[in-house]
Parts: sequence; structure tokens; C-alpha cells
Amino acid sequence: SSININEMLELILKRLRSIAEKQNIELVLETFRPVTAEIDEVKLTLAITNLVENAIKYNRENGWVHVTLNADYQYFYVKVEDSGIGIPEDSLEHIYERFYRVDKSHSREIGGTGLGLAITRNAVLMHRGAIKAYSTEGEGTIFTVRIPLNYIA
Ligand code: ATP
Ligand code: MG
Repeated sequence: SSININEMLELILKRLRSIAEKQNIELVLETFRPVTAEIDEVKLTLAITNLVENAIKYNRENGWVHVTLNADYQYFYVKVEDSGIGIPEDSLEHIYERFYRVDKSHSREIGGTGLGLAITRNAVLMHRGAIKAYSTEGEGTIFTVRIPLNYIA
């Protein structure tokens, strides 16, 4: 059905705010326009939640997470950008695989099953969307998600 994406993102960030505060991470939502789209709200809420959770989890003390929403006549775009530990170049192609976790002492000491991004990617593809990741080790990571405004199951 037709979902208000601005409200959906506000709710996702509201739920994660206390986790971010515990790690002293600034969580910011920037929306460039009102967006409504025909989506599965439950599946995409989980998909975006996983990305923001990762952005908080694999961050540094006093870091930040910026979530932005934009749209054109065909798609809406959600960008999740963080100031975290980054993902090594040779790991980027594996992060959507089930149970894959970057083999670093730092990410091993942070709990996780390695399923989050697999679930996120499935939800995005189910909407005929696209997901991309850009990262620099030690600087941060950017995930971009593109979803058609009028997805029909
Ligand atoms: P789960 O989400 O199931 O609790 P997880 O976070 O380990 O566990 P994914 O969300 O699928 O699993 O992420 C896979 C791996 O990709 C992570 O273990 C981590 O190594 C890396 N990763 C994901 N997002 C980020 C990010 N924003 N910054 C740095 N590394 C990341
Ligand atoms: Mg995760």
C-alpha cells in the first residue's frame, strides 16, 4: 500500500536513537522532499533498520550516522552514511552473503550473525530496487538504496 517514507524513516531512527546515544553517535535524518511509495512497509523497515544498525555498530566513539531521503519521478533513494571502521575492498563483494562477517578482531568482538545485509538485499530486490556500498577503511561506509515509487508485487 501507499506508505509515507519520511514517517517510516523517522520511526526507524526514533527506535535506534537510544542505541546510538549509548555509543555517543550522532544520528541525523535529512529529507529533501515528502515521499510516498507503494512498498511493503514491514520488509523495507527491517531492511533500512539493518543498515542503520550496522552504521551505528561498526562506528567509532563520537562518530556520526547520516540518513538522507531523496526522490525523483521514478524512484526514492535512501542513503546511510557512517564515520565508522569501513569495509576492506576485498570484502565488499561478500557482505550480502549469509553469515559473512568481515574477518577482523574489531568486527568479531562486536556481536552479530551476518544475516542483516542478506535480509536487506532480499527486501530491496523484492521491490525491484538496487543497493550499493562504498567504503574506505578507517573512514566510513555509504550504503545507497534505490526503490521504485510504484512497485507492484
Ligand atoms: P547481524 O546484522 O545479522 O546482526 P552482522 O552485522 O555481522 O550481523 P551484516 O549486517 O550482514 O551482519 O553485515 C555483514 C558484515 O559486514 C558485518 O559483520 C561487518 O563486518 C560488515 N559491515 C556491515 N555494515 C558495515 C558498516 N556500516 N561499516 C563497517 N562494516 C560493516
Ligand atoms: Mg548487521
